[in-house]
Amino acid sequence: MSSTVRMPPPDVWGVGRVAVGGEMIPWPVSHADVDDETDSHVATMRRLGVGEGDVVVICSLLSEAIHVFPLEQAANAVGARYSSTDATEFDAFRTAAMVSQVSPVAVIGVNRDVVTGLRGAGRDLREVFGPVKVVVAADEDAREALEGAGLAPRRWLKLGPVSGFECAERDGVHVDGSRVRVMTTEDGGLLVTTTVPRLTPCVDLATGLHGEVIERPCACGSTDPRIRMVPAPG
Ligand SMILES: [Zn+2]
Repeated sequence: MSSTVRMPPPDVWGVGRVAVGGEMIPWPVSHADVDDETDSHVATMRRLGVGEGDVVVICSLLSEAIHVFPLEQAANAVGARYSSTDATEFDAFRTAAMVSQVSPVAVIGVNRDVVTGLRGAGRDLREVFGPVKVVVAADEDAREALEGAGLAPRRWLKLGPVSGFECAERDGVHVDGSRVRVMTTEDGGLLVTTTVPRLTPCVDLATGLHGEVIERPCACGSTDPRIRMVPAPG
């Protein structure tokens, strides 16, 4: 019988997919990173009006786990439950069914593929998402489509390994100023730095996104910086 050598648990929780410039790169994160992001997104849940006894639907891809798992844990942390759907054209019908079955207060992560899938199934966006208090768009196409349907979507913005959300003011994406610093290049490119220890260092990472950073406090009372998206120049 061979003796078993117990190895310490690996520090790596998983490997995410992060946009750097125009490319996607693998991004290892630790358990501590995930826990810290979870703590950060407890404020996100409050910002989205998700609390005790509520249900939130999170629509995402498995490759988005480093951005999504902390949201799921944060939902649990505020006493809410979450249900998951795939952010794909083919699973869009299930997002619609989920909304009607679990009556979520918020649906996070509607993207262009979900919009395409719903339209392809002959569904009206206003009819599907109208009953949901807070609908969060994961990209600009989805935001425009939801606005075009007469809804008031908020934006979820992935900035490198972290992400932020708009509050009810819908005037820029709040980022956690205690963990993240966002700077702009001369042409408005957004550079993100994490200011807390993380497994994979993130210093002035070129997100490939363009926007402006608003430092003045938001009408919602938050003093966290906000990002207003602008189209890439040229
Ligand atoms: Zn705000």
